[in-house]
Amino acid sequence: MFVFDESLLQSHQFGSECVSFMLGCLEELASSLAGRGITFQWRRGDQVEQVVQAAREWKADVVYWNRDYEPEAIERDRLTQQQLGKLGVAVRTFKDHVVFEASEVRGATGEPLQRYSAYRARWWNRWHAMTPAVQSIPVPLAAKNTAPLPISRPLPSASELGYDPVVPWIEPGERNAMKRLRWFTEGPIHSYAQSRNLPAVDGSAKLSPHFRFGTLSPRMAIHAALNALAKGGRVSRPDVLTWVDELIWREFFQQVLVAFPHVAKGPFKAVIVPSPRPAGSERDRLFRAWCDGKSGYPIVDAGMRQLNQTGWMHNRVRMVVASFLIKDLRIDWQSGERYFMQHLVDADMAANNGNWQWCASTGTDAMQGYRIFNPALQSKKFDPDGAYIRRYVPELVGVPVSKIHEPHLMSLDEQDRYGCHIGADYSTPVVDHQLARQEYLNLGKQETTT
Ligand SMILES: Cc1cc2nc3c(=O)[nH]c(=O)nc-3n(C[C@H](O)[C@H](O)[C@H](O)COP(=O)(O)OP(=O)(O)OC[C@H]3O[C@@H](n4cnc5c(N)ncnc54)[C@H](O)[C@@H]3O)c2cc1C
Repeated sequence: MFVFDESLLQSHQFGSECVSFMLGCLEELASSLAGRGITFQWRRGDQVEQVVQAAREWKADVVYWNRDYEPEAIERDRLTQQQLGKLGVAVRTFKDHVVFEASEVRGATGEPLQRYSAYRARWWNRWHAMTPAVQSIPVPLAAKNTAPLPISRPLPSASELGYDPVVPWIEPGERNAMKRLRWFTEGPIHSYAQSRNLPAVDGSAKLSPHFRFGTLSPRMAIHAALNALAKGGRVSRPDVLTWVDELIWREFFQQVLVAFPHVAKGPFKAVIVPSPRPAGSERDRLFRAWCDGKSGYPIVDAGMRQLNQTGWMHNRVRMVVASFLIKDLRIDWQSGERYFMQHLVDADMAANNGNWQWCASTGTDAMQGYRIFNPALQSKKFDPDGAYIRRYVPELVGVPVSKIHEPHLMSLDEQDRYGCHIGADYSTPVVDHQLARQEYLNLGKQETTT
């Protein structure tokens, strides 16, 4: 049974990409259940009320669900369990979203871990101590005393839920997840350590929405990666282990959210960082330019346009655009976090919040001082021939490699020659990176001494 939560739908904290992907996954689930003679049920409304009402109508004696680790979901599930208890209905919950829950990977004295490196070491200890098996398909339970279930209704469309219907750029459903996992672990995983940083290359798994929506289990993915390692051949150990490390980052941020739920509403740690630019028209102009991919920094603009057009953005570029918003434009990281949630197909509170806080230097990052990415240097290093930029910023298609990372440095002659006029065809940079960087560092010093 699936409940479309009315208040969540109304809040629009997720976007059309995310909702369309989820609907695609539900369509596949409904048809795969139908193949097993099970009618998929869905309802719309308040989640707690709908589950309790369904349990009553169907004379359920037990309700099963997988645990969710977001603070509001924990409270929702607690309330549901309480109300079902009053009806005499039992509840059984399962771990499914992660390999290890927060309580399973702790420090020496049982404390939750705040540093990724320590968490990673303990995570591997745990894995080696009791490697969790991939779950087999469960045997059907014998139904007893239940009322007959209503026949399945077609799922609502994205428009009926109040969202734009879009064809997800990453294909939804378990079958597609398995196909992509197989493709990735048979090939690209073996060069992952290098190619994962190149946004023009299809070098990462692009499985994040599947982990987000449960169409791929992290246990299965890790076993597939380690099997690729075990097969030898052209396998590269550091590549495979780097990929597994990324899945451990995912688990790390899930446990941060459980152990430190205050991160959902504010900084992980009370550090002194430069205050964001005050509210007003200048802040709004800069934020708009960032959102629309019109900042005048090609790598930032390519990233934001990739996000707006596809609902996905390359990880390296996510870090660059986040640093640019927070440190060059001095806009609060929560605005960026919200924008990502509303546009990403893999929008996930734990991963999104953890990474935004990492970029804002308010999170679990062990680095002293402020990490400020230089967009032009990042671009030259990771998109050396400008292929990614040209894919998403067509105004720059005719600009040669020597100028594509900083097109505003072209002379007027060059602008004529390459058919791209700065300020007309392509934006003038909204800020000067070197000045903005210095200003950020100066503000940081002032706030530390006051
Ligand atoms: C500012 C910012 C916001 C982000 N928001 C999200 C988000 O809302 N949802 C989300 O799933 N990821 C988020 N990430 C992490 C990362 O960018 C994506 O998980 C990754 O790009 C997904 O692509 P992939 O499946 O090809 O990853 P791969 O490189 O193939 O990695 C495999 C898996 O590991 C996990 N993973 C990889 N990198 C990270 C990371 N840095 N943190 C946590 N998990 C990771 C993902 O589940 C991913 O699918 C964010 C990163 C940044 C810098």
